[in-house]
Amino acid sequence: MRAIVVGAGVIGAATAWRLGQRGVEVILCDPTPGRGATHAAGGMLAAISEVQYGQEALYPLMLASAAEYPAFIAELTRDTELPTGHETAGTLVLAADRADRDALALLSGVQHRHGMRVEELTGRDVRRLEPAVGPRIAAGFRTPDDHRIDPRQLVRALLDAILARQGQRLITEPVVAVESLGDGWSVRLGSGHAETADKLVLAPGIGLNGIEGLPARAYAPLRPVFGDVLKVAIPRSLLLPGETQLFGHTIRGLVHGVPVYLVPRADGQVVIGATSREDGLDAPSAGGVWRLLRDAGTLVPGLLETEFVEAVARARPGSPDDIPMIGEVAPGLVLSAGYFRHGILLTPLGSRLTADLVSGTVAADDHDHLGAVDPARLLTLRS
Ligand SMILES: Cc1cc2nc3c(=O)[nH]c(=O)nc-3n(C[C@H](O)[C@H](O)[C@H](O)COP(=O)(O)OP(=O)(O)OC[C@H]3O[C@@H](n4cnc5c(N)ncnc54)[C@H](O)[C@@H]3O)c2cc1C
Repeated sequence: MRAIVVGAGVIGAATAWRLGQRGVEVILCDPTPGRGATHAAGGMLAAISEVQYGQEALYPLMLASAAEYPAFIAELTRDTELPTGHETAGTLVLAADRADRDALALLSGVQHRHGMRVEELTGRDVRRLEPAVGPRIAAGFRTPDDHRIDPRQLVRALLDAILARQGQRLITEPVVAVESLGDGWSVRLGSGHAETADKLVLAPGIGLNGIEGLPARAYAPLRPVFGDVLKVAIPRSLLLPGETQLFGHTIRGLVHGVPVYLVPRADGQVVIGATSREDGLDAPSAGGVWRLLRDAGTLVPGLLETEFVEAVARARPGSPDDIPMIGEVAPGLVLSAGYFRHGILLTPLGSRLTADLVSGTVAADDHDHLGAVDPARLLTLRS
């Protein structure tokens, strides 16, 4: 069987890798592999600390995918020697003031009711765990089961496994249109050249909105929710002897009602994210950069004494209900898009479900998950 996978972000790349493991010949198409939302993502695998009110349908997907991560990474590292930055250090969620603490305490009630592990800490407990945390932090919560990965490393490792180990093809051109051939699919590339395959997987993130020829009643348009993300490098003078990171946990916080997070990378750099904007500005916003630095400095004051490395902005690909759309939307055409805030966390589950739909091997245990992500649930359809 031959499959074309459109999009080489984490979802398309992981799906292509899974298909290759099953003996499928894959053509991966992407003009800028790994440079979409994946390039900006913090890489928090935060099934628990990312719980939001009213998104109950997402919790089982997030928990199931988090549970699959260790095996997913173990399998991937048998196919590539490149690192993924997967770290099982837990997450601290900090409160900058009493109202922030009360909001986090309310949320921890929901987390406990869903059987998730959350431990409440005093400011002193927090600083015992992470001495770099600022003196104004009065309380916190620890979610030991929320881990992290480096999304840029992950996508590089997946591409290495697909191209070097499996010998698949990558075409660095956009797909501009798709067409059903009855017993297969054809895609038209930016150069005008066409490729054909038995099956077609669409995983182009927010790029889905620009592809022509999709069948009517296939999907709902995605909305771009931009996020600004910063990276800083920690000077040696701030580190304790023998240490490479300023802090070991992923640190999230509510600072006067506004969320911010700090993700340490293995090379000692720290990612500071992320704003959430629906203003159409696809470059880093000045106000966003200022707010992230201000709030990061409240959580860990030393971060304001670091070297500024980069600011990037990307669009989170949001579906109308913030839940991914994964399903066979026409014979041989599998959609896997709309992963919004959780695409890195949902990669093991989402890519496995997508590959199962392509190869027609869906397990009975996955019917509930597939019901939750079925694109047909969204009634706003494009013709
Ligand atoms: C600021 C920010 C922070 C985030 N933090 C986290 C986090 O901590 N944890 C988490 O789980 N998630 C996080 N996310 C969400 C996560 O990044 C996304 O859900 C995930 O990257 C989606 O993966 P994807 O492969 O579907 O899309 P993308 O990563 O956007 O990849 C899509 C790919 O398709 C390609 N493409 C587009 N159009 C076409 C076309 N016509 N033809 C061919 N190729 C095409 C693009 O070049 C791109 O490489 C964050 C997102 C942002 C923006």
